[in-house]
Amino acid sequence: MAVLNVISIIGLSIIAITIKRQYDHQNVENINKFNVNNKKFDYIVVGAGAAGAIVAYRLADETGSTVLLLEAGGSQNLYNDIPALQEIVENGVQNWKYPTNETQHIDAGRVFGGSSAINSMNYYRESPEYYRLWTEITGLSEWTFDKVLPYFLKSENNLDHKLVAENSGYHRTGGRVTVTSSESNAMMKQVMIEAEMLGHKKTFGDGREPMGAAVLQNTIDTNRSRVSTGTAFLENNCLKNLNILGNSLVTKIIFNNRKQAIGVEFSRYGKKYLVFANKEVILSVGSIGSSKLLMLSGVGPRDHLKQFGISVITDLNVGHYFVHSMGTNMIFDIINQSMVMAPTNTFKNVVDYYIRHTGPLGYNQSTIICFPELAYSRTYPDLSNGCVMARTGLLGNRTVLQFLAFLRRPKTIGHIELTSGNPFTAPIVKTCKLCHKSDIDNLVNVIKLALPIFTSDHMKQYIKINAIADCYPCNGNYFCDQYLRCIVQKNTKLLIPLGGCRMGVSPDNGAVVDKNFKVFGVHGLRVIDSSIIPVPCEQGNAISMMIGEYGAHTVIENK
Ligand SMILES: Cc1cc2nc3c(=O)[nH]c(=O)nc-3n(C[C@H](O)[C@H](O)[C@H](O)COP(=O)(O)OP(=O)(O)OC[C@H]3O[C@@H](n4cnc5c(N)ncnc54)[C@H](O)[C@@H]3O)c2cc1C
Repeated sequence: MAVLNVISIIGLSIIAITIKRQYDHQNVENINKFNVNNKKFDYIVVGAGAAGAIVAYRLADETGSTVLLLEAGGSQNLYNDIPALQEIVENGVQNWKYPTNETQHIDAGRVFGGSSAINSMNYYRESPEYYRLWTEITGLSEWTFDKVLPYFLKSENNLDHKLVAENSGYHRTGGRVTVTSSESNAMMKQVMIEAEMLGHKKTFGDGREPMGAAVLQNTIDTNRSRVSTGTAFLENNCLKNLNILGNSLVTKIIFNNRKQAIGVEFSRYGKKYLVFANKEVILSVGSIGSSKLLMLSGVGPRDHLKQFGISVITDLNVGHYFVHSMGTNMIFDIINQSMVMAPTNTFKNVVDYYIRHTGPLGYNQSTIICFPELAYSRTYPDLSNGCVMARTGLLGNRTVLQFLAFLRRPKTIGHIELTSGNPFTAPIVKTCKLCHKSDIDNLVNVIKLALPIFTSDHMKQYIKINAIADCYPCNGNYFCDQYLRCIVQKNTKLLIPLGGCRMGVSPDNGAVVDKNFKVFGVHGLRVIDSSIIPVPCEQGNAISMMIGEYGAHTVIENK
């Protein structure tokens, strides 16, 4: 009887927790959609992703202005919360799956929180050298690491108190986005031990020192629930002047005859709406979305727009300089499943997750090892290019060690094109994944540098390399070029889309926005998201949140 009572209490507690979370997710929209048509707001922010949710919140909170935030996707759900279900969310309906000319699509979130609600939750900022390259390419001194650091700190609530104490100035507690460290499982501990034994220096997980081995932190709360900008800035919103509407696809920016952005047109369940901005329209629709929306609205390359009968407002290099990283996947079987928390007992896992905030459902830890042998260029010797990321994750009903060898900064540069003037049609991303011989060679070299960590005699007792379909090791040799090239050709994916609306000094050198995020050639329009980033990088979430904070500050200062 007593046992039954305990089970009932646990069951009811879990039901109460999940109802509360689902309620918070579903109650982000706070504006009467029937009254919104033809309404005026001070600012209209388009896209509630990593950057946009922050821009809208800060403008409403710090200026008292009326803000309308429009998002094409809808609410998050309980699946978004649970770290172990990340791949299910990534492959589900909350993903735009933007088409490309390659045999894969590009992932991006279509939900409150944008890609921060479906991503792998790693919190990574890149190094001072990365931002030095950024200033060099844009010609803007505003983007050194020292200058962007305050905007990383503004939203950070780092709950690894030891790390914060040892890294004061670099991390802080108190912002809205919770960042935590995870306790390593026995498998991940071995990866780190092996990397150190092979001479890879232990370094910081935030990317400050780009070479060496590090354990990454995550945007996960202490209850092991994902923190997206949707949960951190939009849920439980008490700001009456922050108006939020989901399932609203913005189809066009409206300009007056002085090229001033005065509002936007959007579609919600098949009905067309117009809304107007007293001050500014701000696009935060992500790397591919911002290029698409600008071009549909007449801001973009003249010849390309004419092809689709779109009247040109201003001729700019929109959609150009689209950059991405790319990575090759391999899987290792974990021989001894007791080294990880095997997902065998589902009821126990659910109880552990919701009541004890532990167990495999909440687990997410990645170790990254970056190799100095693959420096980006001679000018930037400290800017590493090739890394490997390892994490344990579910594959069917077993836990495996996932290995991702990647290039942070491949040579290939793509661009985004419209496929029609119809806003409901997807654009196409044109890139060339493995066209540069040096990119293929570099990926092969990353795998060669990484494999000794995973195939040492010491590691052989724990993991076993999984065969890659149609690729054959040369007489059992897993290091031969022929085999590694085959893996690269078969298993490489485009990752982290960035750029398309590059920031810079002048449109003459291909820039779309100026240092204050203002679109060249028009008035009252800014782009504040990952599309302004000029240099490919390993992870886009923390950087996009920083851009959101930086951009909001720029608008508030009326720059
Ligand atoms: C599967 C996956 C895994 C990733 N893993 C990591 C990771 O572990 N760590 C990391 O740092 N980065 C990761 N990233 C990248 C990171 O999440 C993104 O770089 C970052 O979120 C980009 O921020 P953003 O604000 O520019 O765009 P987004 O966050 O994508 O937001 C854009 C928003 O605009 C909305 N939108 C688009 N078009 C319209 C329209 N016309 N009208 C209205 N709304 C529109 C979208 O629905 C979306 O909500 C990952 C990304 C993905 C997809």
